[in-house]
Amino acid sequence: MRRLAFALALICAAPAVAQPDPDAAQRAEAREILSRSVAFQSTVSAAQTPAYAAYLRDLFVAAGIPAADTLIVPHDRTAALLVRYRGDGAGGRPILLMAHMDVVEAKREDWRRDPFTLVEENGYFYGRGVYDNKSGLVTLTSTLLRLRREGWRPTRDLVIAYTGDEETSGETARQLLAEHRNDWLNVEYALNTDAGAGSLDEATGAATIYAMQTAEKTYSSYTLTATNPGGHSSQPRPDNAIYDLADAIAKVRAYQFPVQWNDTTIAAFRIAGPTQEGALGAAMTRFARAPGDRRASATLSASPFYVGQIRTTCIPTLLEAGHADNALPQRAVATVNCRIFPGVSTEDVQAQLQRVVGEKIAVAPVMRYYSSDASPLREDVMRAVTAAVHSKHPGIPITPAMSAGATDGVFYRGAGIPTYGVGEMFIKDSDDFSHGLNERIPVESFYNGLTHYRVLLTELYGRR
Ligand SMILES: [Zn+2]
Repeated sequence: MRRLAFALALICAAPAVAQPDPDAAQRAEAREILSRSVAFQSTVSAAQTPAYAAYLRDLFVAAGIPAADTLIVPHDRTAALLVRYRGDGAGGRPILLMAHMDVVEAKREDWRRDPFTLVEENGYFYGRGVYDNKSGLVTLTSTLLRLRREGWRPTRDLVIAYTGDEETSGETARQLLAEHRNDWLNVEYALNTDAGAGSLDEATGAATIYAMQTAEKTYSSYTLTATNPGGHSSQPRPDNAIYDLADAIAKVRAYQFPVQWNDTTIAAFRIAGPTQEGALGAAMTRFARAPGDRRASATLSASPFYVGQIRTTCIPTLLEAGHADNALPQRAVATVNCRIFPGVSTEDVQAQLQRVVGEKIAVAPVMRYYSSDASPLREDVMRAVTAAVHSKHPGIPITPAMSAGATDGVFYRGAGIPTYGVGEMFIKDSDDFSHGLNERIPVESFYNGLTHYRVLLTELYGRR
């Protein structure tokens, strides 16, 4: 889960929704599943993800999903889980519902409480993974179990895909796409619980905004390497690996990637402009009216928070050169980290960097990266997300948003499956300890998640 730092506002008019809140029994069941989920140490080191997958599969089967409609896909020491909740097909092709079972490592000695025991204290649930992504996984699962027991039949098949290594390699998602794109993953689009989130006001705790993730930038790093025969530092020459690299870095500094935009950029700026004070707000409004406007682009590019919304960015982050203080350097290497605009390939960025720095410098990717395009905005999804969010937080603004980091969504979008981050969590920025110590979520936000997913699923796939 990468939180969306893009606090923009879009007012959506929502239809009034009845309050399909969970009863005490469903709350208790969801809490029990969360407690069991936290206890599975689904880290790389403890490798309890396959056991966790089996536990979840058994829950679906106990609720009435035929065992033949479930599949555990092993992968090294982890696994993915697939479950098909059958619909009548009247609404069209199947839909994918995504979450990940794995969590970031957590050391008992570093935490105030045992990270793998769910603790409820002062209105918070504590435990590794409660935010990222076990709250989403559990509230979605619990909602599906309840709907299934009630005999609800959706208008399309709902394919549940829980991956097992989102926090590390993302290999289980890629394996599912490689092996099951034409059967299990023959879906029209995906809803991701691991992205999209609401914000709570720091002082009052009231919900302020919800951001639905529709795009992710591509993360990639490249090395810029200058090499030279070297020699004795008492016999200097004008050619020098460090000079060459320094010249190259200066060229990267002077270069700006072209201004870009997509549906999400325009929609987000159009509505956010009027809510932001001063030149920045005016620039957003102008950019939404005249995408690529030079003055608006310059104003937005001067802001570290917004430059990444309209351009690919590349910035030097690491430097290493030479081998002795009395030797001419044989090698100088800078690492440049890039956040690539959706739809641009990592190869294109490498080629552009090569043109910028010139042929004396070798440009190479640090590892293999995956990129994806933005997902087109869908009115039906936007309307359902609005209804789900407004069922607990009436009237708050809802915006499409592009996040700077990657979830498993990058693989699904890359494989041609539009993916929407529709997570249930509302949290204060100051409470966001995902990946860190003492991860926690507001208890109320967790239970609200049960309403969120129920409204979302029945709005989108229920009978009218
Ligand atoms: Zn996550």
